[in-house]
Formats: sequence, structure tokens, C-alpha cells
Amino acid sequence: MTKDSLRNRRERALGSGAELFYDEPLEIVRGEGAYLFDADGRRYVDMYNNVPAVGHANPAVVKAMAEQQATLNTHSRYLHRGIVTFAERLTALNHDGIESVVFSCSGTEANEVAIQIARLITRKRGLVCTDAAYHGNSEVVDSMSYVGLSPSRSGEVRSFPFPERYRPLKEGLSDEELCDAYLQRVAAAINSLNSDGPGFAALIICSIFANEGVPVVPTGFMHKVTELVHREGGLVIADEVQSGYGRTGLWWGYECLDFRPDIVVTGKPMGNGLPLGATATKKDYIDKFRSDKDYFNTCAATPLQAAVGMAVLDEIERLDLLRNSAEVGARLLNGLRDRLDRYEEVGDARGLGLFLSVEMVRDSLSKEPDRDLALYLSDRLKEKGFLVSYSGKYENVLKIRPPLVFSHADAEGFLVAFDECMEELHA
Ligand code: PMP
Repeated sequence: MTKDSLRNRRERALGSGAELFYDEPLEIVRGEGAYLFDADGRRYVDMYNNVPAVGHANPAVVKAMAEQQATLNTHSRYLHRGIVTFAERLTALNHDGIESVVFSCSGTEANEVAIQIARLITRKRGLVCTDAAYHGNSEVVDSMSYVGLSPSRSGEVRSFPFPERYRPLKEGLSDEELCDAYLQRVAAAINSLNSDGPGFAALIICSIFANEGVPVVPTGFMHKVTELVHREGGLVIADEVQSGYGRTGLWWGYECLDFRPDIVVTGKPMGNGLPLGATATKKDYIDKFRSDKDYFNTCAATPLQAAVGMAVLDEIERLDLLRNSAEVGARLLNGLRDRLDRYEEVGDARGLGLFLSVEMVRDSLSKEPDRDLALYLSDRLKEKGFLVSYSGKYENVLKIRPPLVFSHADAEGFLVAFDECMEELHA
């Protein structure tokens, strides 16, 4: 069967509009470590997929999954020591205000639980998020996703411009003044919720503003915004679906940006592909949530989730992946920053650990976003064997977010391919 006929069948079976990456889509049939292989046996360095954090087809995770499924997998209404131990281990990795967990099957579900907890605890409904965040796809969570693109989506949601230094809210401000300018926008969002009726329940924020393009944030912003939220009687929900689990070189994005969230939401890499999400917070909050909502999620908090979740944590530790993320990420970022002077179209390169962004612009003076170039590069890099994508508010940011087993050699290879692409452009 040709790729075109598979594409036609896909369009019929899944409906047109089911997204596919790349001008010429890939048919991927196998993964191993940081590599993906297509139907013709061609190998690609995967620099996009953060879910298989401990590597595609990680043997220890596969073994844990198969053994548990061959032994027992049930819903969560029996005593099972696996899930208790996993919850204990997850909370112990967090700051000491994080004591208990509600498990679920996706980042969306985990954010839903976080919002329900915040609304229950504060007895208010209003939510504040950034204008370019993505938090998931359910009705409530979707109303906080890409708000800037359709500002009037929900009467209970207010957004503020995400904090950044590259395209700051106002030019010519010191770091401290810029921080205050963004804080004022958050305060205005909270005031608007208070005066319009729903009141203020929570700020939900990706700890490293991943979908916003991992901006450099004015110093102290997250710490100060947490103080502001608490003064206003709200809770801070850290969406660690992208930023958690060693992505930044630390366990949590909130450690990098130095704040203490009330609720921590995790997903994607937790199960290395097995659907697994978690909402973790104070025991007292979870107790209230459980007694109020009687929350049940059929495939969550199961022996299977526990076994796989534990195997992923074991592999992160055994393979020293926090260190790998910090070291390989730092060296790759240095390499990318060297390209700032070399190519006018590389406006900025930034990131934390193995979450890096390369901002493509028409020229570095105007900083005008160049979405077409980001698209072109992601296609051209694919042809050269490196898979990246693009994101950010203007979709002009190359998004680099490989499995955490990504190596220095892969990073070096990528820089060579990137240079070839840029030189082709100038040829
Ligand atoms: N939060 C963030 C920050 C995300 O990036 C995503 C998914 N990209 C989600 C939540 C939603 O996770 P899921 O797709 O597992 O529902």
C-alpha cells in the first residue's frame, strides 16, 4: 500500500483535519531509545517526543508493563500496595506541601481535577492563565488553551500576556519593572474576575511556559505571582505535564523558576506512553475533593499504572536522566546560541534542560516572527533525519524536546543538519 492510499484511508477513517506533521507525512513503524524508524527502515533522531522520556520501547518499562498485565490489572477499589507506593514516591519527589495524589489517564483529566479542587477549596470559579498556554482538550480545560487566539471564550477565564524578555510587554524597562508590568496584568485579570462575578479560584500555569515557547521570564516573576495569587485567596496550579519529570534537568519546572505551587499536575512522560496523569496537593484538599466528588476513573490508579509509573521513575534514576537532560541540553543550547550571530533569521535560542526553543524571525532587529521559515526548517530537518516541530504564540519557534535519553552525539548531528539547512537558504 502506498503512503497516499494510507493517507486517503486515514482521512476516511479518522475524518479530514486529523493533524499530520510535515508536508510529506512520515509512516513510523518502530522506536528505540531516541530514534524512530519509518516503513522504509530509515532512522530519524526524535527531537520532538517527550512522552517516551526514558526512551522509545524502553525494555525495563516494557517488561514491567507486560508482567503486570499478565498478573493483575483491575480498577482502583481494592487494596493494592503498588499504587500506594507509587503515590508515596511521587509526592516525596515534590516539595513538602504535596502530600496526596489523585491519579487519572491524561494531562487534561489531571488539570480538570486540579480545577475542581481549586474551585472546591476557594468556593470561587474564576481561572487565570496565559494568553498562549495549552492545558488540554476538555471543555473547561480547553477554555484556558490558546486564549489569546479567541479572547472571549469563557466568562470564567481571564488571560494575561505570558512573561518574556524577547518581546517584552514594554520596551526599555529594567528586569524588575518588566516583572511588575506583567504582575499588574495578572492583578487586572484577577480584579476583572472578582468584579464580574465568578471570583478568583486559581492561576493555572505551565511552570516553564513550554507551549508559549520557553521564554526567558523576568527574575522572580513566578515567586511574586504566587504571593499575589495567595494574597487574593487563590491557588497556584503548576501544570508540569511538559516541564516535569526531569525535562529541565531538575525534577520539576517549578524548581527552575523557584516557586511553590499549591497543586502539581503531571502527565505525558509519567507512563512513557501508557496513559497516566496525576494531580498532587495537600492531603486536606484531596480529602475534601474525594468526599465531595466521589471521583472515579476506571483505568486510573490501577496496578498497571503503578507498575509502569514505578519503572519509569526507576529508569530516570538508573540512567541518570536529570543530569543527561541538564548537560546535553546546556551544550546544545550553547551551540544554538552560537548561531545567533551567524544567521540573521535566528532571533533567539533559549530553554531549560532538554526543552529548547529557536525563534525564527525575518531579521533580528525587527524580530518579526517567521512562521513559514519554522515550517520549512522542520520539514527540511526531517529530510535530514531530525524530527522537530514548531510552536509558540506565532508558531515561529522551533521546538526541541527529545526523549531524555538524547545524547551529545545526536545534538552535534543536529547542529550540523541545522547549519546545512541555513546555508541552503543563503546559497
Ligand atoms: N498541559 C500541557 C502543558 C500540555 O502541553 C498538554 C498536552 N500537550 C496537556 C496539559 C494535556 O495533556 P493530554 O494531551 O495528556 O491531555
